[in-house]
Amino acid sequence: MVRMANKAYKNIADLLTQLYLVDERPWLVGFSGGKDSTLLASLIVDAVLSIPATQRKKPIAVLCTDTRVEIPAIAEIVEGTLSRMHKFFQQKGLNIEVNLLKPPPEQSFWVNIIGRGYPPPNRTFRWCTQRLKIDPVTVFVNQRLGHWGEAILHLGARRAESSTRAQTMAGRESRNGLLRHPDLPRVWVSNPIEFLTTEEVWAYLLQKPNPWGSDNRILYKLYANASNGECPIQIDTSTPACGHSRFGCWTCTVVDRDKAGEGLLAAGDERMEHLIEFRETLLEFRNPDNGWRDNRRMNGNEGPGPLLIKGRRELLKRLLKLQEETNTVLITSEELLLVQQLWKAARNPDDGWGVSRILNKQRGVVMNNDINELNRLREMEEEVTHELSIRADTLRRMLAKVEESSESHRSHGLPDDLLNILKDDLYNTTHQEEDPAIH
Ligand code: SF4
Repeated sequence: MVRMANKAYKNIADLLTQLYLVDERPWLVGFSGGKDSTLLASLIVDAVLSIPATQRKKPIAVLCTDTRVEIPAIAEIVEGTLSRMHKFFQQKGLNIEVNLLKPPPEQSFWVNIIGRGYPPPNRTFRWCTQRLKIDPVTVFVNQRLGHWGEAILHLGARRAESSTRAQTMAGRESRNGLLRHPDLPRVWVSNPIEFLTTEEVWAYLLQKPNPWGSDNRILYKLYANASNGECPIQIDTSTPACGHSRFGCWTCTVVDRDKAGEGLLAAGDERMEHLIEFRETLLEFRNPDNGWRDNRRMNGNEGPGPLLIKGRRELLKRLLKLQEETNTVLITSEELLLVQQLWKAARNPDDGWGVSRILNKQRGVVMNNDINELNRLREMEEEVTHELSIRADTLRRMLAKVEESSESHRSHGLPDDLLNILKDDLYNTTHQEEDPAIH
């Protein structure tokens, strides 16, 4: 068994060396900090080290994503590993860079939930993976492809991990054993450890230290504590839900239970206590029976819609309380400003001061909103709404939506968003609701 496994590791190392030398296409390496991608990165770095320095020309980029709602113990281990990798690659003069990719503030978990009112994700509306994990990688890869042309992306996917993944891996177009990336046509995907079993992965990691010097027994202990698997780096939506029995975000409401978080708490990580409780809060807000959600969808159809402004306010209050309890920054000032901006564009818009009021009340902090500017805008608003015979909140929502779209440089979907706001205007006017602008 051991001899067979040694042969398998050797074959992978030989294949990687051949692949390195056969052409000049740069490599990307998906790294989540879990066991499979740690093994993958180890084998790749060893393969590079085995090549004479004069032939080591290929640029390599290790890619890791940080959703900014990662389980703290895991985020700390990953950050430590990335920093050790970086030092080692520099000391050895290897052409390998390390990148920790994060979603931009306007797409963060809290801006989407508290700002836009997205319900906490579930299996049918898993909006988070794309925004928090896939998009940051796609943006990075597309930027690099502008210089590179083509690239090879190495992943630590294994057939033994999941039958769905095995089918996905088997079903794609291939060339020289590489699979075409489903969304990035100039990227070819390689799965060097595809056929290794879980035992073989651990056998390697526990026998051989990583080239950059991390101790894999710490990783092993983490798995033992959390009694679960890892959340793989997500490259497309066909990769299985990373919430299932894996390390994911501490906010993950896609899974029924956060077993990893519970395992860490049981092993003595007290930070998890409040975080696990807050996950229950997110589940409460997602449930349409609890009155936090609109009963009209974003497109105006009947059905559970976004979180109401009152729900978003309440959630922000609870999140700020959690920040104090855990003494950790969970939402940044930039995100708070974005939330404020988005509340102005909501179906029952806020007057532009809701976030300031909450911060002021809870923390004695005053946000830097300019009152004179706000009054001047109010007067202009009144004139325009009178002239066009539309509601003041409709105009405010449309302006906020246009502003949001120009700040993010994305106009895609803007006409539909504006049309939905006008539909709401018509609905509200025909239902003769009162102007709910000021709270
Ligand atoms: S771990 Fe859960 S919340 Fe985080 S990106 Fe994956 S599915 Fe979404």
